[in-house]
Amino acid sequence: MLHGLTTDQRDAQTAFARFTDERLIPHAGAWDHTERLDDAVIKDLAAARWLVPTLPSEAGGTGMDVVTYGLLSEELGRGCGSVRNLVAVQGMVAHAVLRWGSKELADRWVPAIGTGTTIGAFALTEPDVGSDARNGTTTARRVPGGFEITGHKKWLSFAQRAGVFLLFARLDDDPAAFVVERDTPGLTVSPITGLLGLRASELGEVVLDSVVVPESSLLSHGRLTFDLVATSSLDYGRYSTAYGSVGLAQACLDATLDYTRTRTQFGVPLAEHQLVRQSLTDMITSVEAARLLCHQAGIMRATSHRDAIRQTLIAKYFASQTAYTTATAAVQLHGANGVGPDYPVQRHLRDAKIQEIIEGTTQIQQLQIADLTLTHR
Ligand SMILES: Cc1cc2nc3c(=O)[nH]c(=O)nc-3n(C[C@H](O)[C@H](O)[C@H](O)COP(=O)(O)OP(=O)(O)OC[C@H]3O[C@@H](n4cnc5c(N)ncnc54)[C@H](O)[C@@H]3O)c2cc1C
Repeated sequence: MLHGLTTDQRDAQTAFARFTDERLIPHAGAWDHTERLDDAVIKDLAAARWLVPTLPSEAGGTGMDVVTYGLLSEELGRGCGSVRNLVAVQGMVAHAVLRWGSKELADRWVPAIGTGTTIGAFALTEPDVGSDARNGTTTARRVPGGFEITGHKKWLSFAQRAGVFLLFARLDDDPAAFVVERDTPGLTVSPITGLLGLRASELGEVVLDSVVVPESSLLSHGRLTFDLVATSSLDYGRYSTAYGSVGLAQACLDATLDYTRTRTQFGVPLAEHQLVRQSLTDMITSVEAARLLCHQAGIMRATSHRDAIRQTLIAKYFASQTAYTTATAAVQLHGANGVGPDYPVQRHLRDAKIQEIIEGTTQIQQLQIADLTLTHR
């Protein structure tokens, strides 16, 4: 539990927790199984104005402050990693269009994404280019009235459902970002199924075969496009992933506290064994530490602190690993039940592994945190 929140933030946290308990936890296992979210839960998120809550109210949000957004990400992550991922991606796309796009693009797409009329997808990764995302091979060339884009994007969250893609390509040998509608001729989406975790994130790959888009679909072009558009979007998503990892770890801890209190071996509850308590203490401590790192990142983001990006990297680096180690411990303390279908911790373990890969892998963050610290301190 975090101390020092305002009354409004505390009230919001209570509402988020209720939503998670009632709308996510009872269904997350089924969504994982069918590899798809219910349309109804997306409608509920839109009705609550939580799809992109950080947008202003006229665009479908609530003008939510960044600390409260972190609390929302934690609660959604406690219930369903894919719902948390959906909300993160909608925010990444909508804010990029609002911040870097023309008024025409912003008017067309930001309220549509904010209200859930259109789902957005963030199209950066390619089959052969992931961590080294600056060196994508998808290419745009100028044609009369617009651009022709050819390339291949892969591992895109919610591509199966998306109506619009924020897509990165090279134009005149510089990075460029485009807003591309799904039904543009030459664009095909194929689902990716059978993932280890975040299985309800409806991943897809997109092939662009001479896709012609109008001039107005160019969001940004030039040497700084990657640093401005892609990096700021990933930073937004990373903050959500960090807090979502705390929620996931908290879910593992809650399940394990319940289980070790009630499961009896050698005549006493598991929680009475000292070695089990040691494991519980490690889980409790790392969840609290991860939450504090996220909260620190939230406060620094809220005040536009110059070190906020580095702090967010640190929070995501630590919290995603905490999610994984906590989920591993939770499965271990559940014994065979931990790997069976009747308890949620096996899903948590699968989802936790993904947190160490998305929005920058653990290894890339090891490089970035040291680089930023060596450069600026
Ligand atoms: C569930 C899920 C959802 C996703 N959603 C999206 C999305 O919505 N949009 C999108 O664009 N992408 C998305 N991705 C892709 C994700 O961003 C990439 O998987 C991630 O950036 C890593 O890239 P990669 O998988 O190509 O791994 P690679 O870059 O090939 O890396 C493979 C391994 O090598 C390590 N490595 C790479 N470079 C170095 C180095 N310099 N030093 C040390 N180690 C290194 C990595 O850490 C990793 O362990 C998603 C992925 C998943 C699994």
